[in-house]
Amino acid sequence: MTPSPSLLDRARARIPGGVNSPVRAFRGVGGEPFFVRSAAGCRITDTDGRELIDFVGTWGPAILGHAARPVIDAVREVALQGTSFGIPNPLEVEMAELLCDWVPSLEKVRMVNSGTEATMSCVRLARGFTGRDLVVKFEGCYHGHVDSLLVQAGSGALTHGRPDSAGVPAALADLTISLPFNDPDAVRAVFASEGARIAAVLLEPVPANAGLYFPEPGFLETLRDLCTQYGALLVFDEVMTGFRVARGGVQELAGVMPDLTALGKVIGGGLPVGAFGGRAEIMDQLSPDGPVYQAGTLSGNPLAMAAGLAQLRELDRIDGWARLETLGATLETLVRSTLSDLGLPLTFHRIGSMFCLFFTEGKIRSLAEAKRSDRDRFARFFHHCLRGGVYLAPSQFETGFLSTAHTPEDLEETARVMHEALRAAF
Ligand SMILES: *Cc1c(COP(=O)(O)O)cnc(C)c1O
Repeated sequence: MTPSPSLLDRARARIPGGVNSPVRAFRGVGGEPFFVRSAAGCRITDTDGRELIDFVGTWGPAILGHAARPVIDAVREVALQGTSFGIPNPLEVEMAELLCDWVPSLEKVRMVNSGTEATMSCVRLARGFTGRDLVVKFEGCYHGHVDSLLVQAGSGALTHGRPDSAGVPAALADLTISLPFNDPDAVRAVFASEGARIAAVLLEPVPANAGLYFPEPGFLETLRDLCTQYGALLVFDEVMTGFRVARGGVQELAGVMPDLTALGKVIGGGLPVGAFGGRAEIMDQLSPDGPVYQAGTLSGNPLAMAAGLAQLRELDRIDGWARLETLGATLETLVRSTLSDLGLPLTFHRIGSMFCLFFTEGKIRSLAEAKRSDRDRFARFFHHCLRGGVYLAPSQFETGFLSTAHTPEDLEETARVMHEALRAAF
């Protein structure tokens, strides 16, 4: 008798790599991904019935934990009225008002279906508004799989980008200039030579897709000043940080106002949602009022709006950001004491409920510095944690997420597992 093929075999036969998004394939750590049957609170249950404490939180959206009651109830209630109308519905207006109320730089906003769509739309709008073509981005910042943003690095400040993906035409990649993060002189130099051609400077104001690191004091302000001086738009990609680090995102914490903002992840309560918005004068360039085309059959979908509104309002109601800060501080204390017990000079970064343990010492302020991490050791650590019941993101270059559903006891259990895993990894 031949054994029946596993889910993974079946997936690999019909889905490229067996996954619908590459990082799920565990290539960064080796081994094979597991399949999830269900999730509740801070725990996910795999198809073998094993429970894991989850620090991925579906890559950020699950800020109240999985299957949060207010979100599930809202989706259930709204679904009974119909799943999509393709004509305005009241929830879209409620969402737009809430976003403009909470995110300091937003005057008008449009809903889309993913973070990728949000950043893609920001780039087109910035180009349409300024009448310019060049986009400046930063090495290690991820903005979704938009053609002209899948460009990581050129050598030297003025080198134009090379595509990070096959299928991105060189002609498009040439319109992207990729610079090292936290290097204001590199940005100044690019503006000095190309300033009149730059439509936008796009960044994760707290980069969280190459590990997690922070803008040095003054860096965001410098970008703001240069954009203003040269008539380029400053675009914050807050798909990850929006509603995560604070109610109003990094822009609220830093007090630096972008012209456009891309949002996603937490905004949808686990449903596929993104949004972008900014100054009314810019947003009014969008179709049907203006010449920049942008559209979506399912944009503003009532289920997605209901899930997102329920999640955001619940976070606000329970003062979620203060709770997340307390939980984050607890985890940080536990991890730091483990590191000092074991005498391991690793680098731990945290902002609120986002964290990253780099397997290297010293300052990390850029992709180049993050890349010093020992990825083999991280992989061993990851697999030991997984065996111990703790699920971290399967790559050194991802950020961990806490939810309001994690308890101090969950974090103590996690620290115990991490302690063992670190001993085993070194
Ligand atoms: C996840 C992410 C995106 C892409 O969002 P998708 O919904 O996966 O398309 C864009 N920017 C940042 C900063 C992200 O973290």
